[in-house]
Parts: sequence; C-alpha cells; structure tokens
Amino acid sequence: MLVEQYNLVHISTGDLFRNEIQKQTPLGIEAKGYMSRGELVPDSVTIGILKNAVDANSEAEGFIFDGFPRTIPQAKALDALLDDLGEEVSGLVALSVPEQEIINRILLRGKSSGRPDDNDPAIVRNRIQVYEDETSPVYAHYAGVGKSYMVNGIGSVDEIFERLSEVIDNLDNSWWDEEEE
Ligand code: AMP
Repeated sequence: MLVEQYNLVHISTGDLFRNEIQKQTPLGIEAKGYMSRGELVPDSVTIGILKNAVDANSEAEGFIFDGFPRTIPQAKALDALLDDLGEEVSGLVALSVPEQEIINRILLRGKSSGRPDDNDPAIVRNRIQVYEDETSPVYAHYAGVGKSYMVNGIGSVDEIFERLSEVIDNLDNSWWDEEEE
C-alpha cells in the first residue's frame, strides 16, 4: 500500500536472501544457516546485497527499506551509500507491537509463508531477542538526527496504513515535496 501511495521501490533484504536461497547461490547457502537459526546474516553480506539492489533501481523515485538496516554498521553503511548518491534517509518508522502479539502473528503467518523461521517458537523468540540487542539501537541512531518515528502497530491494516501515511506526509525532507516545488 505504501509502495503504491508514494511510488516507492520496496527492498526487503529478507526477500533478497530468500530469493538467493531459492536459486541455491553461494550467497543463499551462506545466508540460509543464519536465517534458519533466527540470527542476522553478517553485515558485509547484507550491505553488499542491499547496495546491488539500490544500484539496480537507479531510476527509483524513492525506496522503502524493509528489514534494513538491522544493525548500527548497516545504518552507517546506508548513510554513506545514500550520501554518495546525494541523498539521505527521510525517516525511520518502527511499528510498536507487544511481544506476544508478534509471536502470534508470526506463527499465524508461518502457516502460509512456508518460512521455516516463522514456524518454530524458539526461533521466533531468538529473532525478537536479536531485534532488541542489535536492531533497536538503529532507532536511536536516527532519533539522534530527529528522523525516527514510533507507530502503534496494533489495529487493522487500514488503520496502520493511515498512521504510517501521516508520518510520511509530514516528513520535512520528503522527496515528493521537492518534486512538487
Ligand atoms: P525478514 O524477512 O526481514 O524477517 O528477515 C528474515 C531473516 O533474514 C532474518 O531473520 C535474518 O536472518 C535475515 N535478514 C534479513 N534482513 C537482514 C538484515 N538487514 N541484516 C541481517 N540479516 C537479515
């Protein structure tokens, strides 16, 4: 819905890795071990695959990065990558959802996603722990420059879409503002 509303290219590093796994590439084989344990794929691998995806979409009007950056080194690499392109992060949005609700949603999604990491409660708990340890500092990284937003992730898809749209509409360095000027 956000892609359509704001004309964005969606880049999910998880999807990129799953695609590599399906193609049985060396990168996919390496990533699979980490993913099946609910651990993070090493930063160097992740930054490389993200950079390739950005480079492959040089005509994009904007990006929505989904599940990236997940560590401080990834955030710094993204900042540097965008800086080289004369761009910057417009905003970071974190969806706030209680832990038990996250576990319920992931296990429910596991019934249809076919993702092994969605089907094992112990792996799901590990993913949440990794989020707390390594990913939550990324919120503070962008909060330091006034770019982080916490959005209530409880509600219907339409309600949450509306909350996200409100944040995006009010970003002061929105790329679509520049285009409208
Ligand atoms: P996701 O599809 O975003 O839930 O990601 C699934 C799995 O892919 C994660 O649990 C990690 O093992 C790996 N992964 C995805 N994005 C990243 C990232 N930015 N950094 C490291 N590992 C990642």
